[in-house]
Amino acid sequence: MELKPAYSTLRERIMKVLEDSHSFLTVDEIKVLVGEELSNSEIYEHLRHITKSIRRSSGGKKALLMKPPTCRKCSYVFKDLSKPRKPSKCPRCRSEWIEPPAFKIAGV
Ligand SMILES: [Zn+2]
Repeated sequence: MELKPAYSTLRERIMKVLEDSHSFLTVDEIKVLVGEELSNSEIYEHLRHITKSIRRSSGGKKALLMKPPTCRKCSYVFKDLSKPRKPSKCPRCRSEWIEPPAFKIAGV
């Protein structure tokens, strides 16, 4: 019998939700589909790990794709984010009204 820490099971469920979805999912949508009480920062933390592990575990065939966050006020696109997260402020217009990033796992 193989014992797994609880977080890896949860991470696997998050990965499954992201693989099964046909559309990009925000952290709020992931939370609902996984059915757990999680904070957004916990999910972003899992997504950061998934980014690193998915290529390795799929032999380079799959990747976590991110639809970048955008500013709802001036339409600025946060193209240069290196990690999954929701920026707090738009660098162009200083608005805090940010459309969150969305994710899915797909073949590359
Ligand atoms: Zn803006």
